[in-house]
Amino acid sequence: MKKIPYGRQSITDKDIEAVVSTLTSDYLTQGPKVKEFEIEFAAYVGAKYAVAVSNATAGLHISVLALGLKPGERVITTPITFAASANCVRYAGGEVWFADIDPSSYLLDINSTKELIESKPPGFFKGIIPVDFAGLPVDLEKFRELADEHGLWLIEDACHAPGGFFTDSTGTQQKCGNGKFADISVFSFHPVKHIACGEGGMLTTNSEEIYKSLQSLRTHGITKEDMSRNEGGWYYEMKELGFNYRLTDFQAALGISQLQKNDVGVVRRNEIAQKYKKAFEGKLKFQSLKQGDLNAHHLFVIEVDKRKELYDFLHQNNILAQIHYIPVHTLPYYQSIGYENAKLENSESYYRSCISLPMFPTLTDDEQQYVIDKVIEFIHG
Ligand SMILES: *Cc1c(COP(=O)(O)O)cnc(C)c1O
Repeated sequence: MKKIPYGRQSITDKDIEAVVSTLTSDYLTQGPKVKEFEIEFAAYVGAKYAVAVSNATAGLHISVLALGLKPGERVITTPITFAASANCVRYAGGEVWFADIDPSSYLLDINSTKELIESKPPGFFKGIIPVDFAGLPVDLEKFRELADEHGLWLIEDACHAPGGFFTDSTGTQQKCGNGKFADISVFSFHPVKHIACGEGGMLTTNSEEIYKSLQSLRTHGITKEDMSRNEGGWYYEMKELGFNYRLTDFQAALGISQLQKNDVGVVRRNEIAQKYKKAFEGKLKFQSLKQGDLNAHHLFVIEVDKRKELYDFLHQNNILAQIHYIPVHTLPYYQSIGYENAKLENSESYYRSCISLPMFPTLTDDEQQYVIDKVIEFIHG
């Protein structure tokens, strides 16, 4: 069997044509394709506004700035995520606080978050960044309620979950990034994610004010609108310290083409997940799923006792399983700034046993059967 990665992009001839035709247009960097991608993405997730950015990390950075995060202010996130979900707070000079995960969903635990908030005086925290880990949507209705109770903002890190949804208390399906509960949702177009642009990201929101702020921060804080004076056609104003976090038009062309296949990809990812679950039911632990929710399945994670041995065994057999994630508070940088004594038992116990199996739409049935056979061989051996 040839090497099977844990995730990979799929690029079709149509994707290639879309990029090539943009290369000979008038725009290489941000132009009409970026605008079109933003409009189509906003419509896809059901949000009012979308802002394309150079990658999701940049998007997280300007999201905390747009929500007004100042040096020294505190934000809560989950340790079981990619470091960028926490790093964005550090870029703005803020402090990251971690609440623990729910051991069955692997998502930021609302009770742990509530306890942390209520253990401090009012105003101690400014925001919460829950993550739709592995593609499983966070119940943002509950997090919005908690955030409102304490005057906090809410950023949904939806990098794993385009196309996923949860069902709210009224029985309505709420798609990730639809802007109804989170102030801003963040998506990534890194090749290992659902929609590949090489690098790229998208921010969605229902607030016009936040939308304008994100647009300004993406392009140096420069604007030609609402200027204090106008010295001529060339004149612009830089009103705040922004960045160059733009997406290029040829990346956006690839993104538009990839977005059209996302629903089909999510269906295929769920087929793969069903087959894994059927094979492992009663033998292994995997992520829970509430009735009425749709996991977009960026990842398929299992938990096993001899995790390192399974990792080595699968790699020896050309199955490039991966670990998601090393808890962020245990990374050397976070240890060096004072998290040595953090006690996040569910996250640390999850990390000791988790391993992500291959999960991507072009994984063949034969490849998946081979993966299943090897995992079963290991747990019976
Ligand atoms: C990939 C990822 C990011 C960062 O995305 P980039 O586009 O690579 O910057 C942030 N958060 C999560 C949960 C991710 O998986």
